Amino acid sequence: MRGANMKYDVIVIGGGASGMMAAGRAAERGKSASTCGDSTRGRSVLLLEKNATVGKKLDITGGGRCNITNAEFDRHAFAKHYGTAEQFLYSPLSQFGVQDTFDFFTKRDLPLVVEARKRAFPQSQKSPDVTRVMKKYLADAGVTVLTNAAALGLTCVGNRITEVITKNGTFAADAFIIATGGVSHPETGSTGDGFKWLTELGHTVHPPTPTIVPLKAGEKWVKSLAGISLTSMKITFFADGKRAFSKKGGLLFTHFGLSGPLILNSASAVAGLLKEADVTATIDLFPDTDFAALEKQIIAKIEANKNKDFKNVLAEILPPGMAKAIPHLFALPEANIKAHSLTKEERKRLIHILKAAPLTITGLMGFDRSVISDGGVPLTEVDTRTMRSLKVENLYLTGDVLHINRPSGGYSLQLCWTTGYVAGSSV
Ligand SMILES: Cc1cc2nc3c(=O)[nH]c(=O)nc-3n(C[C@H](O)[C@H](O)[C@H](O)COP(=O)(O)OP(=O)(O)OC[C@H]3O[C@@H](n4cnc5c(N)ncnc54)[C@H](O)[C@@H]3O)c2cc1C
Repeated sequence: MRGANMKYDVIVIGGGASGMMAAGRAAERGKSASTCGDSTRGRSVLLLEKNATVGKKLDITGGGRCNITNAEFDRHAFAKHYGTAEQFLYSPLSQFGVQDTFDFFTKRDLPLVVEARKRAFPQSQKSPDVTRVMKKYLADAGVTVLTNAAALGLTCVGNRITEVITKNGTFAADAFIIATGGVSHPETGSTGDGFKWLTELGHTVHPPTPTIVPLKAGEKWVKSLAGISLTSMKITFFADGKRAFSKKGGLLFTHFGLSGPLILNSASAVAGLLKEADVTATIDLFPDTDFAALEKQIIAKIEANKNKDFKNVLAEILPPGMAKAIPHLFALPEANIKAHSLTKEERKRLIHILKAAPLTITGLMGFDRSVISDGGVPLTEVDTRTMRSLKVENLYLTGDVLHINRPSGGYSLQLCWTTGYVAGSSV
């Protein structure tokens, strides 16, 4: 086996989802090349990982279930989810798309199942099973994996990287893949090391900000609901009091504010608003029922339960768990009034609150809570067909190192499988 001071064909720095795919693919491709007679041996690939094991972040994805991709098989429809990166991704996705992800894992005895919003998970519902498949892929392809091997820097000669310096020694290669990830959940090893080197190498690196991230809100009614999730809500955001945008979906109340898919997928746009304005929001607890229809339902409920305590009648009307917030949101003159004593004005005020419960967004949670960080190398500095850097001749970039915004739902990991495969195929 090769060691420090030895030369490899390819060195991949970072053993996350994209680095493992890139390393496995580069080594596998070398093997198939040798059977075609254009090489006498398989491509030699070294994967450097600073943690004691590869795939630490992969293990915690999807709440431990790993939302491995999104089952939208139409490449153009799929690419639309990546905002300004849509066109860039056509070529990479044509080389390794969603169907390829399904085939890759199914062929390796990890069938996938599709759940709501087309999110695909391993049938076993266990993220470590995905890491296990990737580790076997590396072993079968003959990749040398060196763990506890933090890369400390790169040596360059002219426009080429020649070696990577680690605390275990120096390793040379013909080509390098930086797959060190972004800066979200730094305890998994993603601490932005790659960004430092890339800046030194002449790349632009957009400063990372947490993107798919929960929001902070200080209101007592929000905190009183910590742990409660609601499946279908509508939130409307306002910048300096002016309506900015609305979104519908699932929401989770937490002790610091709001989380859940609806919030995570709004966070990037809210981050933009927060830079310029004071941000407030309203939550519509009955997004599919208009004011008049909701009033009719409430009147009917009160009529049928005239002599019951109003707070008990209200608990039956509200989405489960929400009643706890009512004393904070809707103060009545007396705590225990009967349902029939509610005045018309009080009823109208209540409906206004149910259709637009108010809160103030005080900020985003940090990198320690964010699923991905925005920022990284802009796609204008990367070749779309190969993932090769347009600044450094023998450098390739994959995964979260790239500046690509996307929603939650399996889109981040598909990006890793795709860019990892393309870099591994091209290097
Ligand atoms: C809690 C959480 C849940 C998520 N769930 C999902 C989900 O269900 N579906 C989805 O699509 N996406 C999900 N994501 C996002 C997804 O996990 C990431 O987009 C993806 O893991 C990024 O992979 P990567 O290969 O680019 O980098 P990373 O996974 O960040 O891997 C980078 C690797 O490089 C190593 N490294 C860093 N610096 C060095 C160095 N100097 N030397 C050597 N090694 C180094 C790190 O230790 C790490 O192992 C989730 C993210 C988080 C944080």
